[in-house]
Amino acid sequence: MSSSSKENTTYPFDYLASSVEGYQERYAADVTEKSFFGFPMKSILSAERRLLDPKEPSIAYFSMEYGLAPSIYNSFQLSGRAINEKNQFFSHEVFSNYWLADYVFKVQIDKMLDIPIYSGGLGVLAGDTIKSAADLGFPFVGIGILWNKGYFKQNFWYKHGQVPEELEWDPHTYPGLVPLKNIIHIDTQEGPLALRLWKYYVYSYDKKRVCPLVLLDSNVEQNPEHFRRLTDQLYRSDDVWWKIYQRSILGIGGMRALASLGYAITRYHLNEGHAAFALIEKYINLEDKSQMQEEKNKFLFTCHTPVAAGHDRFFIHDTARVLPQQYVDAAQMFGKETPDSDQINLTYIALNNAQKMNAVAQKHGEVMRIQFPAFSGKIQAITNGIHPHTWVSEGMAELFDRYDETFGDWRAEPERLAQVMTLKTNDAFRKDLFEAHQKNKEQMIGTVNHWELSKDIMTIAWARRIASYKRPALIFYDINRLVDLAKKHGPMQILFAGKAHPNDNIGGSHIDKILDHIDQLNPYKDLIKVLILENYDTYFGKLLTSSVDVWLNNPLPPFEASGTSGMKAIINGVLQASTLDGWVVEAEHDDIGWIFGYRHSGGDLGSETNSRLAEDSSALYETLDQIMALYYQVNQKGRVDIHSAWIDKMIHCIARSAFFNTQRMVKQYNELMWGI
Ligand SMILES: *Cc1c(COP(=O)(O)O)cnc(C)c1O
Repeated sequence: MSSSSKENTTYPFDYLASSVEGYQERYAADVTEKSFFGFPMKSILSAERRLLDPKEPSIAYFSMEYGLAPSIYNSFQLSGRAINEKNQFFSHEVFSNYWLADYVFKVQIDKMLDIPIYSGGLGVLAGDTIKSAADLGFPFVGIGILWNKGYFKQNFWYKHGQVPEELEWDPHTYPGLVPLKNIIHIDTQEGPLALRLWKYYVYSYDKKRVCPLVLLDSNVEQNPEHFRRLTDQLYRSDDVWWKIYQRSILGIGGMRALASLGYAITRYHLNEGHAAFALIEKYINLEDKSQMQEEKNKFLFTCHTPVAAGHDRFFIHDTARVLPQQYVDAAQMFGKETPDSDQINLTYIALNNAQKMNAVAQKHGEVMRIQFPAFSGKIQAITNGIHPHTWVSEGMAELFDRYDETFGDWRAEPERLAQVMTLKTNDAFRKDLFEAHQKNKEQMIGTVNHWELSKDIMTIAWARRIASYKRPALIFYDINRLVDLAKKHGPMQILFAGKAHPNDNIGGSHIDKILDHIDQLNPYKDLIKVLILENYDTYFGKLLTSSVDVWLNNPLPPFEASGTSGMKAIINGVLQASTLDGWVVEAEHDDIGWIFGYRHSGGDLGSETNSRLAEDSSALYETLDQIMALYYQVNQKGRVDIHSAWIDKMIHCIARSAFFNTQRMVKQYNELMWGI
């Protein structure tokens, strides 16, 4: 899609400025006729006009979370104000088996905090989706929630594991985020709930196009105190009351936000079942209910999780404590798993009503058809991706630019990265590629300099949300075997990071285990150095995925719907050590690293609780034996064998990243679901 034909007719800037709450006092210096926090205003005016135009098809995308981070993308500038320290921090503790450094130092990251409105991969995908929608010029608006206390701030306390803390940040001084005068209301059993709308603008990589992100916020004066806290913490789950409210805000509030802004939306895309009340809101507002059939055609649904706990189910009596009776009735009509069920299931509301739906990898498509056989004919698979411009390191981007005859405009056409195969026999390129990787590794080592890592030691990382099916501590299952490997081949460096949901005791216990294993490895610190970093976020995500030698991904098949962190790694030439699950199934035969462990096939899903640690850790150690042998062949204490099969694998990684990106994914969303 292109907006070029309509670029002349724009939306008036004055209208935009007058919609911002406190414009004169707070935002006049940063939001001007020419510039939005240093980015072109022109792109915004044209995007707004297209969303308001009833003749133009457009997409509203609903997601509970968005991973967006000015430290790695969309780095807005402030002219009138200093950056608020609350939006800036962090110093992060590190726990390692190199105790001396832990006692004295912290990792200092002098960057803007991510907008703290995500918890993990689902949010990062939503953020990358908006960026690619902007790159491709779709009239697209994201709907989400302004989490006033974020997800949470993670502290590790020695011997106490993860201790969560409320995160403090200040949306009013966060560059690029502006409160609107629009306040909408939703009806609840406890009276009207007021929600302020905020806007953030997500630009294309070349800043020529933009998509707005609208965030709902219950922290407004006219709400009673307990309502004001509803949008404090993402995925607050200590009481079902919070859950139902948070989903009502996203689904019902989201639809009302679109109406309040006057956006003429023709497609509603629900990212996960959390947003399913949007369908109920649509139904309630129809004067003639028989029109619902036609309205359903506008709804699309992306399902992200094969894990049963990932699907929201609420008792009807709990829902009736929150929502007016007509909503509860409609939710029962659309969302029961079986006619006599006393629960509504948000995934079923979406499955029953959305015209089209997708799983997030081909393997997940198979799994979803097993989970929801009644819908198997409707379930398509569109594999997730990552936004290339966000996740490619500066060093790799420079390398691709230097070989521009091969890669061309790879930012606009990431499929061009597949051309790297033509350089496989080019010795200069092979050398340059390994050097670019070593530079990335040095940069990461510099960030944690007090822990004295070496660029010539095989380095492996595991970093993601801590969830049981992802088996975070697998590599430590048998410490002796790990030590034996290092004795046989040479030393090893292992990096960890990840947050466990504060109410997830099992997740917390995985962190405890990792801390214990790190202690056990203290006597071996010259052979194996292990670090775990606090507060995994997209900044650390990019730092680690672009710099280590091997990215470890060991979920229990088939419970990883897709996974995306490995995709960030391959665009940076970082090899994979992975079980066969999620997106990796689609790269099984591409020689992008090593695949090990349990293979799921057909029939039923098996049990999440049978985590197969003994067998799969053993398979992992056998694989590490091969990995280390090859690593110490390509890198012999700094002497590089450019003809090594290791570099072949790096090249295959980059070639495969031509497919695993959100540019391709968003195009497929349009071809298979939006149809605009
Ligand atoms: C990419 C990313 C994830 C997703 O990782 P998976 O391995 O796909 O689970 C989670 N958190 C952050 C901060 C990320 O950048």
